[in-house]
Amino acid sequence: VVTEARTADDPRPQPAIPALRTVSGAGLAVPLVNGRTTPYVNLDYAASAPALTEVLDELGRALPYYASVHRGAGYASAASTTAYEQARRTVATATGARADDHVIFTRNTTDALNLLARAVPADLDVVCLDIEHHANLLPWQQRGATVITARPTIAETLELIATELARPEVGLLAITGASNVTGETLPLDRIADLCRRTGTRLAVDGAQLVPHRDVDLAGTGIDYLAFSGHKTYAPFGAGVLIGRPDWLDAAPPYLAGGGAVRRVRTDDAEWATGPARHEGGTPNVLGAVTLAAACRTLSGLGRLRRDRHERALTERLRAGLLDVPGVSLLRIFEDSTDTVGIVAFTVAGFDAGLVAAYLSAEHGIGVRDGKFCAHPLLNRLGCADGAIRVSVGLGSSSADIDALLAGLRRLVEDGP
Ligand code: PLP
Repeated sequence: VVTEARTADDPRPQPAIPALRTVSGAGLAVPLVNGRTTPYVNLDYAASAPALTEVLDELGRALPYYASVHRGAGYASAASTTAYEQARRTVATATGARADDHVIFTRNTTDALNLLARAVPADLDVVCLDIEHHANLLPWQQRGATVITARPTIAETLELIATELARPEVGLLAITGASNVTGETLPLDRIADLCRRTGTRLAVDGAQLVPHRDVDLAGTGIDYLAFSGHKTYAPFGAGVLIGRPDWLDAAPPYLAGGGAVRRVRTDDAEWATGPARHEGGTPNVLGAVTLAAACRTLSGLGRLRRDRHERALTERLRAGLLDVPGVSLLRIFEDSTDTVGIVAFTVAGFDAGLVAAYLSAEHGIGVRDGKFCAHPLLNRLGCADGAIRVSVGLGSSSADIDALLAGLRRLVEDGP
């Protein structure tokens, strides 16, 4: 458990700082190759972020009322139904959704984007970039989308996007809010402007953005947003798609089954509208409730506070990495100025998988290696054999960064 530093002369009992308290993995000791153990250093927040204590508390409150929603007259079912529907409203408020937007609970971001891909009218073309995580590429590729290669600068890429959107058959631009490889963010306000001018809808893959930044759907002009609970300091198994209701209400149900229908005869069915249409079967109530608790807690922290913590760590990480001989940082855009807490790099002469295995086995540090489910991007950046990714979040500390940098320096000094 990491708490914010306080001044030594402050006599008051120190309240825990919710901003920096996470539960999973806290205090976990991991074995090293020399037979000793060391505290686990989690630098893989971009894969899954450890749960916040507020999320654990919410889970404890909801668990005793674990019951199927919308179906039972009993107290537990009513309490679960109330909690589930409240979770929708909490997520809507936290993301600045419009009053009529649907908030549909899914399994994760991948599920949410696949659902959206099935809801886009068949006669419309979809545009996306080649920098995307596979979750925001393959569902579109499957329906024959136009995948454009991002240019070396954001400015040129926006020009290219504008040209594509001018085609009248284009109905949707699906783009990431923050790269899961380099952490670079995309200027969503400018992109939303381009979409507005051509009447194109904008879908944002928020899997890496929402854990780090506030998102305002209505204020920015984002039509659809998808993200995952497990990357947003909540448990696995729940994600969400938020957005404009018309396509979603007209689309075939994503999961045909109980809850998604109004009336059923043996030969046909009258489908529900609203979120229920796409949430067939017993929903993941605890997943939705904890995802909402994470959203509420993150919103309550205030943007500046989150930013200050993560930016300071990311700066320290970048500067330190650039000081390690042989390290090259990956970057998509020459003119990008903003990143979330994700940095990818290679070490000359060292296989990425070996670096990650060494950091884990010798120093107890968890990072990610490989192509990060973004093969087209990694290939284009010259990393067909993969790279190493370090990512930080609310529970990370400067000591974590320093441990990583010390480990890398040792590796480079000792040689492959
Ligand atoms: N989009 C981005 C940018 C991601 O980083 C990820 C996961 O790493 C996903 C989508 C897919 O998320 P999930 O595996 O939770 O569906």
